[in-house]
Amino acid sequence: MDRLNTVTGSVRPEDLGITLVHEHLLIGYPGWSMDALAPPFRRAEAVSRGVDRLTELRAHGVTTFVDPCPIDLGRDVEFMAEVSEKSGVHVICATGAYTELEGLSYTFRALPVEEITAIYVKELTEGIGSTGIRAGFVKVATGAPAISAYERKLVVAGGRAAAAVGCPVLTHTEDAQCGLEQIALLTEQGVMAHRILVGHSDGRDDHDYRRALADRGAYVGFDRFGLDAILDDDKRVDGVCRMIDDGYVTSVCLSHDSICAGWLGRPVFRGRRVTTAEAIAAANPNWTATHLFTRIFPRMRERGVTDADIRTMLVSNPGRYFRGDVAPGRDNRHRMIA
Ligand SMILES: [Zn+2]
Repeated sequence: MDRLNTVTGSVRPEDLGITLVHEHLLIGYPGWSMDALAPPFRRAEAVSRGVDRLTELRAHGVTTFVDPCPIDLGRDVEFMAEVSEKSGVHVICATGAYTELEGLSYTFRALPVEEITAIYVKELTEGIGSTGIRAGFVKVATGAPAISAYERKLVVAGGRAAAAVGCPVLTHTEDAQCGLEQIALLTEQGVMAHRILVGHSDGRDDHDYRRALADRGAYVGFDRFGLDAILDDDKRVDGVCRMIDDGYVTSVCLSHDSICAGWLGRPVFRGRRVTTAEAIAAANPNWTATHLFTRIFPRMRERGVTDADIRTMLVSNPGRYFRGDVAPGRDNRHRMIA
């Protein structure tokens, strides 16, 4: 891939630099605008919060912020473009839809897979709505413990669109389940495994699962650092160290899944309980976009992780994933799964 779409134009993949592969500016669950009891959305304040966070990241050397917000989760690419311009950090946005539990769309439930594929291709090649902003990759999302029929249709559409355009696929998983099924479904549509990043693979402490993802040739996302409510960071650090010890440093990508500019409406917990952004922040005090730099890398270095390893996970791996090259020494692991 020669050029890569960001929300402010295209860049060369080799110019991405230090990349956080899974962070968010805004999140809003479907129906957020119907919640009149939610705090009002003040756009200018949210922009300035987003700019402040990305400026902090830039001080840590971050030059690219990947925001895999699906279409149905409050995606606002003009908001992303404004924050990117004001902060000087590249932002890459996605096309694609969220899980059945948290994103179910009446329209996408009705549309056949061919038309959803065409929608994704249009957003990747022509642009999103009338903004002229093009998505840089496809997001697919599945729940647990199994992929529903609705989600399967969207994964197939996402795989077909990515294969047609030649862009990568970034996934959402729940409880670190179904990543292998995602890889199988996507590769059946013609996506090479090294163009797949299986997100939230740190949703459960399962080293064998993560090794299996890497053995299929996919990237493994340890992308929820700071989200202690899901998994303790000690286990994440330990999991990354074990991957490095076992020779998988070129398969690991790091991020937080943090929400930098705010929530649209109120967060909803697993489709059952409406909560507040403040309650989530109080339960996860380390869940910020700079947590890796301020607290996690020092702990990793104490465990023997080198600066070269960190650079591999923050720069080389995301760059190679977006470029579409195969990792050195991994050429036996990028085959398509029959
Ligand atoms: Zn996310």
